[in-house]
Amino acid sequence: MSHLFPNYKRKELALIKGDKNRLTDQSGKNYLDFTSGIGVANLGYNDPKLNQVLVEQSKLLWHTPNLYENQLQEEVAKKLANGKEYVSYFCNSGAEANEAAIKLARKATGKSKIITFINSFHGRTYGAMSATGQNSIHTGFEPLVPDFVYLPFNEIEPLKNEIDPHTAAVMLELIQGEGGVLPADESWIQAVQSLCKEYGVLLIIDEIQTGIGRTGNFYAHGYYQIEPDIFTLAKGLGNGIPVGAMVGKANLAAFFGPGSHGSTFGGNNLAMSVASIVVERINHPDFLQEVQNRSQQLFTGLNQLAEKNKLIKAVRGKGLMLGLEFSDQETLNVILDQLEIEGLLALKAGQTVLRLLPPLTVTETEIDEGLMIIEHVLNNLASRTLLSKKEIDNE
Ligand SMILES: *Cc1c(COP(=O)(O)O)cnc(C)c1O
Repeated sequence: MSHLFPNYKRKELALIKGDKNRLTDQSGKNYLDFTSGIGVANLGYNDPKLNQVLVEQSKLLWHTPNLYENQLQEEVAKKLANGKEYVSYFCNSGAEANEAAIKLARKATGKSKIITFINSFHGRTYGAMSATGQNSIHTGFEPLVPDFVYLPFNEIEPLKNEIDPHTAAVMLELIQGEGGVLPADESWIQAVQSLCKEYGVLLIIDEIQTGIGRTGNFYAHGYYQIEPDIFTLAKGLGNGIPVGAMVGKANLAAFFGPGSHGSTFGGNNLAMSVASIVVERINHPDFLQEVQNRSQQLFTGLNQLAEKNKLIKAVRGKGLMLGLEFSDQETLNVILDQLEIEGLLALKAGQTVLRLLPPLTVTETEIDEGLMIIEHVLNNLASRTLLSKKEIDNE
């Protein structure tokens, strides 16, 4: 028997080794990785520089409690502020970053209502789960944290009707990741920010999946030309070393005074030493330009494929966060299994979306290789589906 809780649906596949943008399983089979471990390993695997800083820091000091000054935290926080007036709080995961954001929003405004959106995903702890607009994630865990209201994404009228002087914050993902790779409309985001300003409501952007270069901008909110009051980070920040951050405008700092919030491991030295290099490397115009080039290559290839192959209903996303919509769950599951057999690891989002999150270091040749595998699998499936349709017609 397994001694693990069965809370994850696991594939019969154990990955034991990684190098650059490829992974190896227990049988020695190699895969091109279009998952980045769910948007985590943005710089791929076995990166010599990241390995080096981790080993060096491990010999110096693993942990220091947050009772003392921490230069590594200061260094990463400064890099995350990106020249703007932002301050950071460090934790160990995305859910924890959102917990901090929710607590800060309540404390800073003295209000409790937080508006979030249907199909959102903000994490699994009580606050973050309560913020998540998906019934299936709430089932069996009620009562939730009170005063969360879920509204339709990309619609302004419902928000106009709901936002009021009792609202502490509006919280959203700029591209709903787990929900199905659904990008927010630019005009909608502008309108959301205006409404927040009008009512003195904090705007919280969950950049846990979209941040750290994933969309071809260091932060996705850079595309939307907004300045969130608070934004949260995790997945790509440590390239696999657990770390999260809640970043807020400096005028919110006073509301998180000594004793208000904390974490034993938050801002751990090993995590900070790695995060510092990750941020430095990714938040560079040349690096981000290259992400945009690879993105364009992948989008072009997938759009061309979608024109020929009717199984694909839509191609969406930004940067190297892409979603391919299919008509039903069974088709998607078959595709994912076939891709794996052909040596390409990909992800699911929602029920019907194939999600691609390659490492940001993916090469031109590897994008071509990935596209070829996807085309091969989809064309095979399309001709099989055609065949079985003919068989049905003949009967
Ligand atoms: C993954 C994710 C989270 C949760 O992060 P954990 O580290 O799993 O707690 C929250 N928000 C978004 C948008 C995410 O993609």
